[in-house]
Amino acid sequence: MITLHQVSKHYITSSGPFHAVQSVSLQVEEGEIHGIIGASGAGKSTLLRLMNVLERPDEGNVIVNGEELTRMPEKRLRESRRSIGMIFQHYHLVHNRTVSGNVAMPLELAGVPKKERAERVRECLQFVGLADKAEQYPAQLSGGQKQRVAIARALANRPAVLLCDEPTSALDPQTTADILGVLREINRELGVTIVIVTHDMDVVRSICTRVSEMRDGHLLSTKRVAGPAVGS
Ligand code: ADP
Ligand code: ADP
Repeated sequence: MITLHQVSKHYITSSGPFHAVQSVSLQVEEGEIHGIIGASGAGKSTLLRLMNVLERPDEGNVIVNGEELTRMPEKRLRESRRSIGMIFQHYHLVHNRTVSGNVAMPLELAGVPKKERAERVRECLQFVGLADKAEQYPAQLSGGQKQRVAIARALANRPAVLLCDEPTSALDPQTTADILGVLREINRELGVTIVIVTHDMDVVRSICTRVSEMRDGHLLSTKRVAGPAVGS
């Protein structure tokens, strides 16, 4: 579903070039929940943003859903990104739009007609359990509810892949478990391939099928995650 081939990315900083991701190759298989773990500054977020080419790689190739995105012109890239949803630690909701308005945004950008837009917004909010909050504003919601809105927005264009950048790091343990439950359902029921950046090994143990470990811009290993013990 996602192939990174020898991908590198550096940033220019005041003290010179900083190699955030160095020659990383990684295959995310269709249907998996793939964790990316590592310390702060290891390059996890950069690697995730390379997967939908929010960051253009200096070198290497990014192939998603059979499409080579690496050198695609910006306009076509925007269209291809519709099949790749993304969520963040701090939700990135638009505060002056209602819950429905937030979920509708990617559909407006994609030119989906109004009637179908309303149906899809309803469907997505229902999926994340927020049908009754459609007309509220983000400020009226809890953190977990805001993340559900962000998830509904990420699903609006029916993506094949969902990229999650520390999706539960701002949430308490119970809300974390709830949001991980929603992600598991998205994977199982909608067949969406999921990549989760996290610094929390419990998140990996609870929902990931495989995990890749990053350190200092390098991918150290990719391993299968043992399922939860029987009875736990
Ligand atoms: P992680 O997600 O593992 O914490 P990041 O990918 O966010 O790591 O960042 C890796 C390194 O790259 C960090 O040291 C960070 O300071 C640096 N970095 C990230 N984005 C930028 C940027 N836009 N400009 C300069 N340096 C950056
Ligand atoms: P934080 O990351 O501090 O928790 P929020 O999650 O509330 O903040 O917002 C995250 C980001 O969402 C903001 O940094 C901003 O880029 C974007 N954002 C918020 N409100 C708007 C808006 N009205 N229009 C466009 N972007 C917005």
